[in-house]
Amino acid sequence: MKKLDYINRQLKIYQEKSFPLYQIDESLFFDKLFKKLEELPPPKSGTYESKTYMSIEHTIILMKRFLDQYACSLLPYFLTLLEEKRIIWEAKKNLNQAGFHQDRPFIRITPHYTLYDFIRLVHEFFHLTNQQFKKGETRDVLSEFLSIYFEKQAFHFLEQLNYDLEELSYFRRRRYTDTRYSIDDYHFEKTIFKVFLKEKEITIKNSPYKISVIYQYLYSHTFSPFKKMVYILGDVFSEYVDEKKINPMEVLKLNEEINNKTFFQALEELGICIDFSVIEEIFQIYLKNYRQIHHFVH
Ligand SMILES: [Zn+2]
Repeated sequence: MKKLDYINRQLKIYQEKSFPLYQIDESLFFDKLFKKLEELPPPKSGTYESKTYMSIEHTIILMKRFLDQYACSLLPYFLTLLEEKRIIWEAKKNLNQAGFHQDRPFIRITPHYTLYDFIRLVHEFFHLTNQQFKKGETRDVLSEFLSIYFEKQAFHFLEQLNYDLEELSYFRRRRYTDTRYSIDDYHFEKTIFKVFLKEKEITIKNSPYKISVIYQYLYSHTFSPFKKMVYILGDVFSEYVDEKKINPMEVLKLNEEINNKTFFQALEELGICIDFSVIEEIFQIYLKNYRQIHHFVH
């Protein structure tokens, strides 16, 4: 029954037409954008040994300096979290999360003692800040965008501090690799999902075996196609906004005001125009950075 509950929950999300993910899924613009993104070359898989040892104390110093420079209004909140020991470095599980436990915020990170600890701290911290305010449907879609956008700013910050470019590229490459694989998975899972919807309508009585196979498939994939879509959009749009040199303060402002806006209004404020003519530009910007990052892979 657990499986059935899961699937029904997914279906409910899908079918609530007011939900922006549904609107995105049905939109021709996003359909064309996702198809275009399939043209990205497959990521190279080189290995790299991190050279820089980062203690937790050093990671926290970097974080304070980063917030001071990029989002100083959020620095007091970070200091409170620190003081109340709500940033938990947990060596046992490989787990990074931000959330609330009994209404009290927390961030949990498994330290690797590399620069990537700082990047993950930035990502999770921004999830926490945008979950602080009342949750809304636009926030559900753009929460990943906000975290990934500030994660990219964190890389710019490290470049300014003259950290090794090859090392930074190695860590940056993870996001591009995830996105590239997600694009393929998204289409595959979406097709399965559509088949499922159809099958559910017409063959639930005639072919229980087939249905159970589809249930099994969807249940074993903790990331539904919609969840993948949120990451892909978060990465591609944050790359675009970054390239357009939009002031991080503007993005921070959106973080605070997002509940009063629809998803499409929020995109408009970020200078993202939902027009077919922009698809090629979005793609070219992403491709350029994707190639640049892969330049270091041997
Ligand atoms: Zn995230």
